[in-house]
Amino acid sequence: MIRSDNFINTKEILFSDLHCASLPNLAKISLCQDGINIAKPIVRQFQKIEEGQLLAINELTKDTIHSSVPGTVLGFEYSAMPNGKQEHSIVIEMSGEFSYSGKKTEETNWTIFSPTSRIEKISENGILNTFDNPVSLSSQMINARKSGITTLGIRLFDDDPSYITDGFIAKRYNTEVLEGTRIIASSINAKNVVFFYPEKNSLTQFNKNIIDLYQSINVEFIPIRTEYYPCGTKKNLLKILSKKLPNLDFSDFFIDATTAYNVYKSLVFRTPSIESIIHISGDAIREPKCIRVKIGTQLKNIIVECGGLIEEPEKVIINGLLKGISITDFSTPITKYVKAIRLVSKRGFPNQTVNDCIRCGRCQSICPEKLQPQNIISGNFLNTVFQCSECILCNTVCPSRIPLFQKIKLIKEKLKNEK
Ligand code: SF4
Ligand code: SF4
Repeated sequence: MIRSDNFINTKEILFSDLHCASLPNLAKISLCQDGINIAKPIVRQFQKIEEGQLLAINELTKDTIHSSVPGTVLGFEYSAMPNGKQEHSIVIEMSGEFSYSGKKTEETNWTIFSPTSRIEKISENGILNTFDNPVSLSSQMINARKSGITTLGIRLFDDDPSYITDGFIAKRYNTEVLEGTRIIASSINAKNVVFFYPEKNSLTQFNKNIIDLYQSINVEFIPIRTEYYPCGTKKNLLKILSKKLPNLDFSDFFIDATTAYNVYKSLVFRTPSIESIIHISGDAIREPKCIRVKIGTQLKNIIVECGGLIEEPEKVIINGLLKGISITDFSTPITKYVKAIRLVSKRGFPNQTVNDCIRCGRCQSICPEKLQPQNIISGNFLNTVFQCSECILCNTVCPSRIPLFQKIKLIKEKLKNEK
């Protein structure tokens, strides 16, 4: 384990306000919002559309993609996405009246809907579970109901310590996060909800609200020492759970604060998934902040919202320094799975020249799974490769800058394909 404050400048997170980005004149909405499955468009070129209108349906999961702005479909484009791939998107030129943004919406009493109908609404509104790799939340909920999962876990902090999106949402929208979690828990008939929260944070507000909200569902709180990394993966949380609450019947259904918040908006305000809250940080950006942006907004527009660049970034990293992906195209649009963007200057980014292994053993010492990354990549101890939890710590300590994690991942994929 390593200290998380190696990755975040605490000065950057001393902001309490959420900024709202200007509406994009052009929204580029990816047809692959979970990064894997391509949805089928149901609109045509030059069609006029409304904000929140259904644009495409994923034939596999039945999940949906909506327009984040009103306007006209200019066409379809193949372009760079935040996961580093090239994917199709629908380009919309904004015009006309908004249906959701700036409108006062009546709250809906979601308890009048049956659990099945709630799951259908979550699917219709295109809500993803972004706890780990983004997946269809409604599909997970259907499976959870079928397999009789009794416990739901919710992480109120960020898995990667270089950003603060989930922690920010959990603090600022604690009532909404609690209610969103309750919607999911009650819809899958969960008997227990476990909140994993940063040990250093007070949970007074959460505790107060929970008494009123969670009546028949047992609620547990587990403090996590978030000053150390890794601490927020499924594997980490399951390990802690089995120690602290060994009597709980636990499967592995976890959500994050972002997902709970989006479920709340989807059921209480009938809002499709058309915007995201993102943490923008790094020493190359003038004004780091948490910002609410429309899905499809391009990175260049977000940079302007953050006061522009101090200097040309050496790297633009999506979703965290440790686990994220580096992108190069400033026209890359925001998708539902983007939680953080970090713009790092040359000064803030160490020399990445790869050299030969000097057998220093640092990767082995830091590996939380007690693996020998330096030996695995040389083709030894391959039987241990699937124990790798993909924490990426080995990469961070290697003085020779060997991309150990990436090599291990390739070995994993190769072995899987050979099976
Ligand atoms: S080998 Fe896997 S588990 Fe070990 S440090 Fe590297 S990424 Fe983490
Ligand atoms: S940390 Fe890098 S240089 Fe050191 S043993 Fe591991 S792979 Fe080799």
